[in-house]
Amino acid sequence: MKAHDGIYLDGAWRPAASRDVIEVVDPADERVIAQVPAGGAEDVDAAVRAARAALPAWAATPPAERAARLAALRDVLAARKDEIAETVTAELGSPLAFSQAVHAAVPIAVAASYADLAARHPFEEQVGNSTVLHEPVGVVAAITPWNYPLHQIVAKVAPALAAGCTVVLKPAEDTPLTAQLFAEAVHEAGVPAGVFNLVTGLGPVAGQALAEHPGVDLVSFTGSTAVGRRIAAVAGAAIKKVALELGGKSANVILPSADLARAVNVGVANVMSNSGQTCSAWTRMLVHRDRYDEAVTLAAAAAAKYADRIGPLVNAAQRDRVRGYIEKGVAEGARLVAGGPESPRERGWFVAPTVFADVTPDMTIAQEEIFGPVLSILRYEDEEDALRIANGTVYGLAGAVWAGEEPEAVAFARRMDTGQVDINGGRFNPLAPFGGYKQSGVGRELGAHGLAEYLQTKSLQF
Ligand code: NAP
Ligand code: MG
Repeated sequence: MKAHDGIYLDGAWRPAASRDVIEVVDPADERVIAQVPAGGAEDVDAAVRAARAALPAWAATPPAERAARLAALRDVLAARKDEIAETVTAELGSPLAFSQAVHAAVPIAVAASYADLAARHPFEEQVGNSTVLHEPVGVVAAITPWNYPLHQIVAKVAPALAAGCTVVLKPAEDTPLTAQLFAEAVHEAGVPAGVFNLVTGLGPVAGQALAEHPGVDLVSFTGSTAVGRRIAAVAGAAIKKVALELGGKSANVILPSADLARAVNVGVANVMSNSGQTCSAWTRMLVHRDRYDEAVTLAAAAAAKYADRIGPLVNAAQRDRVRGYIEKGVAEGARLVAGGPESPRERGWFVAPTVFADVTPDMTIAQEEIFGPVLSILRYEDEEDALRIANGTVYGLAGAVWAGEEPEAVAFARRMDTGQVDINGGRFNPLAPFGGYKQSGVGRELGAHGLAEYLQTKSLQF
């Protein structure tokens, strides 16, 4: 795979000060496919300085011109979509069709949405005798994970640029090639030097230096709760703004009136896609006791169909972590009806599509984020019981409700403590705010709500 041996700094690829490197590995066959710099504190400092120097001019650039750069970025990403899909497949391991349909296509749609929003957004409003200016927050530190490597970059960088902020990106160590490709696209789109900068590197080194840097005004982070907590603490001490997207344990609530087969099949597909490495995945399926056995049979059959279709997990540590959870599920008394902890292949970090029945709400596999192709099916007695179970975790990122009629599902969804709910299999909307209740995070991404995260207000009184 093609890789840059430098960091993208102030409009050009430059040698990193740090001599350390990251080896990029293909999770499907465990082979090293490329090497990129593992930037250090000096590299982060240079990138933040470049972003700070570029801020006044970019903040003063008319929104229409910022929108034009984002439209150009959308076009470059669209022109290079095949290369994006191949790169994601190489370093994340997702099947090529999924990389094309989701990993490449969704970020193009999100970039398009911000090209449009930047052109239309009211950056000034009248409130009585005041004019309220919506101004960029400043220099943004974007720290992203590997599971949707381009989407998570675009979901931060596009609204930041639309708002007039400048950015330093530290992508996940497992998926730096996609981030390099994105930097090339930003360059091709004619975004001025210093507005976007990329430092590949390790979380505890480059990521931490970036989050702690006094020249950063806002830290936008997606990843684990443990790291998110640290970042929030560091940002809090420095009174920096922070946006956190920390994962979930979302419920797929199948009400008794629902089309059971459809709800179960879509639910299983949702968990198995991207090998279960999706923060908003509906990893808990809640079924009424009268339809429970039927649902379990359907889910086991549906999961078996994914055996040859899902990709590996991103790395050996994630694979071991997920297998550990499967073993824990068995140890705590859940009933394995598909998959299991054994490796289905000799090479690559694969885990079999796994389904547990007889899961109770207090079990570890019903409470903690597993981040693998593992579904837990829980039994409820009545609607109140279903609601208690659905809301009974520290998380609240997403969810689903299925019912015979939409109003019944909506009435249930209103009572869920979660940031997004799909009603009877509703479609993904790149303009809908995405983010968490409770410990799933702080702030929202996507659409106008995502743009607002990168703006601060100034009131002029007349
Ligand atoms: P992670 O360590 O939180 O990674 C997220 C990002 O933060 C990466 O760029 C990471 O760099 C960086 N980072 C790590 N330590 C840091 C620090 N001390 N300061 C600043 N940045 C730091 O997550 P992970 O280890 O890849 O995955 C572990 C678990 O997190 C998963 O099993 C899953 O439960 C959860 N997760 C959630 C999401 C989500 O979408 N919400 C995404 C991925 C993972 P490195 O790449 O070098 O670690
Ligand atoms: Mg990590």
